[in-house]
Amino acid sequence: MPRALIVGGSLGGLMVAHLLRSIGWDATVFERNTEELASRGVGLGTHPQLVAVLKRAGITFDGSMGITPPRGVCLDRQGRVILEQPMTRTLSGWSRLYRALLDALPAPSYRFGKRLTRVEQDASGVTATFADGTSERGDLLVGADGLRSTVRGQFLPEAQPVYAGYVAWRAVLDEADLPPALWRDVVDLYAFCLPDGEQLISYPVPGRDNDTAVGRRAYNIIWYRPTDAAALADISTDAQGRHHAAGIPPPLIRPEVVARIKADAERLIAPQIAAILKRTTPFFQPIYDLDSPRMVFGRVALAGDAAFVARPHAGAGTTKAALDAACLADSIAEAGGDLARALARYERLQLPFGKALVALNRDEGAYLSAQIKPKAERHGAELHRDQGAVLHAHIARSEQMGEIVASHGLTGLY
Ligand SMILES: Cc1cc2nc3c(=O)[nH]c(=O)nc-3n(C[C@H](O)[C@H](O)[C@H](O)COP(=O)(O)OP(=O)(O)OC[C@H]3O[C@@H](n4cnc5c(N)ncnc54)[C@H](O)[C@@H]3O)c2cc1C
Repeated sequence: MPRALIVGGSLGGLMVAHLLRSIGWDATVFERNTEELASRGVGLGTHPQLVAVLKRAGITFDGSMGITPPRGVCLDRQGRVILEQPMTRTLSGWSRLYRALLDALPAPSYRFGKRLTRVEQDASGVTATFADGTSERGDLLVGADGLRSTVRGQFLPEAQPVYAGYVAWRAVLDEADLPPALWRDVVDLYAFCLPDGEQLISYPVPGRDNDTAVGRRAYNIIWYRPTDAAALADISTDAQGRHHAAGIPPPLIRPEVVARIKADAERLIAPQIAAILKRTTPFFQPIYDLDSPRMVFGRVALAGDAAFVARPHAGAGTTKAALDAACLADSIAEAGGDLARALARYERLQLPFGKALVALNRDEGAYLSAQIKPKAERHGAELHRDQGAVLHAHIARSEQMGEIVASHGLTGLY
């Protein structure tokens, strides 16, 4: 039985493992973390294409997997609804999907504490070497190791993430920790707040135990804030003066930085959303674009965020990882044992698709990136973004995702 070594055990790596197993491959996931990753859990927008690929992986996306708030609204500074649009977006949680995918994989096929350091390949196979001194041999290696991929770093050192000029502050609060009246105010809302030059989106998600039952849900906030390089360096520096260039762990964010975001929430956003954010300990993720010129290097393929990172506006990262996984499995199945031909097809289809998604999301975020330029250098839409345009364009992106998938010939994947 042919064997795939999958580096990275987040959603991308797990979906590749399931879909390769479904075509008769032995697939083993190697994750550098020593224990389960479920604590990362925050909200995650879904698309029908993701749901369909999960189904191919044997995971049924039923009502317990997500919440579909019926109204998309824009709230003003006083908390009044100033724009409203019906919408049908289902919001799930990162840990909800992770749990389902991990539980469905036989335990020996997922190895914790395996940090890849080096890949070597020859005509008959590929060898992965890990930081613990062990190595594994397979027919194919898939780098699903995310934005700072070790695999990409070895084969494509010139492809580096580019900071977009803003960060996403994130917060999530259990329904049980919210006064019932406040929860009732927000539970039906996919809500936007648009302070000058910024963008905040909030929505209900499955709760702590991935629960969608009444009383056990949670509310999720993403607040995009322009942050220049100096300010990013400052908020990425811990109380001991250490700078965390690759991302500061949330518990190390300095208390005064957290206090400042809460004070800004009070000043700038709708009071019902600010009241939720103030009850949490928010953390942030810098937003990057990553665009790779290649995805395949002999017996090595990149998938998910390791190859392309689109800004999160269309909530498409996990869906793209799912389509990468499906395309890889289908290409291998179609090529009848010719791995080189299979990987060439995979790259031919997924490379332009990844590029198109990066471009689509860069477009939506261009307004936010522009805010770190001096005001005199900004113009038109960069200075005054119409609220209705933001809301309508954001909701329309769900459909655009389907159009991009179709225009790249990927509808057969799901
Ligand atoms: C603010 C924000 C909001 C988002 N919202 C959404 C959303 O609503 N919807 C959506 O679909 N997507 C969203 N995303 C994107 C989504 O999180 C990712 O695109 C998706 O999880 C696919 O990631 P991945 O599995 O390819 O990589 P990652 O999730 O980054 O996982 C990489 C894995 O590889 C492991 N790893 C790294 N290096 C090594 C190594 N050397 N050896 C072994 N293991 C290694 C890591 O520990 C990690 O587990 C959002 C992202 C951000 C930043």
